[in-house]
Amino acid sequence: MKQLCERLNLTTLAAEIDPLLETARQQQWSYAVFLDAALQAELVGRQERAQERRRRSARLPFPARLESFDFRFQPGVSERLIHELASLAFMGSATNVVLLGPPGVGKTHLACGLAVAALEAGHTAQFVTLRELLVQIDAPGPRGGLAAVRRYSQPDLLVIDEIGYTPVHRAQAQLLFELILARYERRSTVLTSNLTFTEWGALLGDEVLATALLDRLLHHAEVLTINGRSYRMRQRVQGDTPTSTTP
Ligand code: ADP
Ligand code: MG
Repeated sequence: MKQLCERLNLTTLAAEIDPLLETARQQQWSYAVFLDAALQAELVGRQERAQERRRRSARLPFPARLESFDFRFQPGVSERLIHELASLAFMGSATNVVLLGPPGVGKTHLACGLAVAALEAGHTAQFVTLRELLVQIDAPGPRGGLAAVRRYSQPDLLVIDEIGYTPVHRAQAQLLFELILARYERRSTVLTSNLTFTEWGALLGDEVLATALLDRLLHHAEVLTINGRSYRMRQRVQGDTPTSTTP
């Protein structure tokens, strides 16, 4: 039976058939109960493997969860809004999420948390920093250029992290615009940036293009501006003496 399972690619059942048979004998299961348990075991195994594949291909930098976000530390972030986003209703309407703020305030954490929620709900998700995205867009050969844009237009949820740290050349800006256009009103994109929107023109080296890009991006979007303290610096701040003159 084990070998038959393996030949039929019933991988999980092949591993579990012996204990299942043993339990069936002990508990005097009917044929129907046994078959149900066997098929369930294989189904659960397949779902777990598919989930694991999706999780790996999402390339999250860390598996942050929305539940582990400390709202008391960052009171500027609306717990109600994050709760609402966690329901993933925004993905149904292809609404984008833009997280703005200085380093350490939890932008990447929240972006990853949304991606984890999407993955757990069975969606595909992909995380990429703008730096890495531009490297892939610039790649020579058949994987670069528009092919890269097409690749990143596919995932149900795309996170583009750290917009603002890497200068964007004209040709790259054009392809970034193509990507936003390809996803516009089809699939949700989560973006994080340390810049305000007015600074995107300078970043993309083209005010007209930046305006067109922001127009599509923000048409259906939740924008969260986080102007709080850096979580990375919290220990340092807690360790400060009361006489500290740090501004
Ligand atoms: P940013 O992307 O804004 O620079 P990160 O999301 O990378 O900041 O946050 C830095 C670290 O601090 C991460 O490990 C993140 O999990 C953690 N962190 C940030 N804010 C919070 C918070 N409010 N609650 C819990 N952990 C947080
Ligand atoms: Mg970050």
